[in-house]
Amino acid sequence: MDPLTTIITTPALLITAITVGYLLTCAIWPFKRCRKCRGAGRHRSPVMRAYRTCGHCRGDGYRLRIGRHVWNALTRNGRARRANRKNRKDL
Ligand SMILES: [Zn+2]
Repeated sequence: MDPLTTIITTPALLITAITVGYLLTCAIWPFKRCRKCRGAGRHRSPVMRAYRTCGHCRGDGYRLRIGRHVWNALTRNGRARRANRKNRKDL
């Protein structure tokens, strides 16, 4: 194979593999442990050291992955667009 072709295609294949892997991860495991409380759902307050409910995950210990958040927004947008188009035909 031509060395120039190898130089060009190798990063492209690597980026494609990483993207597909992340999309699969978002499809299979949409939630990730909360970074703030490390999945506990609560953390210690800095002053009195009492336990508080984590505000980032609202106490469940999980947060939605960014890729899945984008996927849900795109799905919601497409669904609303189709519903809007269907309503226009009814008029
Ligand atoms: Zn949390």
